[in-house]
Amino acid sequence: MRLFDLHCDTIYECLRLEQQLGANCLAIDLERGCACDGWVQTFACWISDDLRGEDAWNDFLRQSAFFEQQLHAQQKLVRYNGQLVPGKCNAILSVEGGAVLGGKLERIGELAKRGVKMLTLCWNDKNELASGALAKGGFTEFGRQCIPELERNGIIVDVSHLNEQGFWELCEFAKEPFIATHSNSAAVHRHPRNLTDAQVGEILSRGGLIGLNFYVKFLSRKRNPDFSVLKRHIDHFLELGCEDVLALGSDFDGASMPDFLCGIERIANLYQSMVEYYGQTIADKILFENANRFFQHRMGKNGPCGEE
Ligand SMILES: [Zn+2]
Repeated sequence: MRLFDLHCDTIYECLRLEQQLGANCLAIDLERGCACDGWVQTFACWISDDLRGEDAWNDFLRQSAFFEQQLHAQQKLVRYNGQLVPGKCNAILSVEGGAVLGGKLERIGELAKRGVKMLTLCWNDKNELASGALAKGGFTEFGRQCIPELERNGIIVDVSHLNEQGFWELCEFAKEPFIATHSNSAAVHRHPRNLTDAQVGEILSRGGLIGLNFYVKFLSRKRNPDFSVLKRHIDHFLELGCEDVLALGSDFDGASMPDFLCGIERIANLYQSMVEYYGQTIADKILFENANRFFQHRMGKNGPCGEE
């Protein structure tokens, strides 16, 4: 089984709890994850909505420095550049929260230089670019300027957390396909963080990606949902034609997980259930191939993302 996960908050949690990526008490570590036949993991640097200006940028520097230090310290950690290295964690660095830019356009180039491949435009609240799912309003003028600059720098736009008004405004000026890294179906479970069918259709027509989120509150109203609940989201996305668009965006170490998906070691069980219900071809597409194809294409277009 191969795994491509579009979102986790493990870097932030490692720093908060003074843990390493190698082996830890969190939902993701290299020891457990490397049991897969191939593993690509996006590590987000989460920027709190409470941080603004230089404070936000400095918090990114703190998190990316930890990531760099782990790349040197952990033999099983390599930077993903489109070529999968088996037996290792092939890591992609992203930032969750456009507040990181501190309102400065030139920071986008600096993110790219530091190997950032994706930016989640908002977290839940309003920032300098746009408004998150729990806030009102659309894009700011600065936010509009950021989109072509992100695309020029090969940084993929992530619309998870962006509110619906912002989503549709983005569709007017985004040229490259974008991703909803960790969002589920609003038709299955109504929640402002989930995607309406119209949004899903738009991402589909643009050749983007949607990452299934395991957070209990985005799956259903149940306190501890089981596979049948996640399956309802997958079924619906597949009914909408998302066979080549659907992927995983676990939200490990950023949200409370159902027992059946309490950590990365449980993905093997998830894969078995998916093979059972959907067959191996679709299971492989959702767990790995759709996201891998997308990133290989993007990285081929923009060159390798780092020297390591
Ligand atoms: Zn998030």
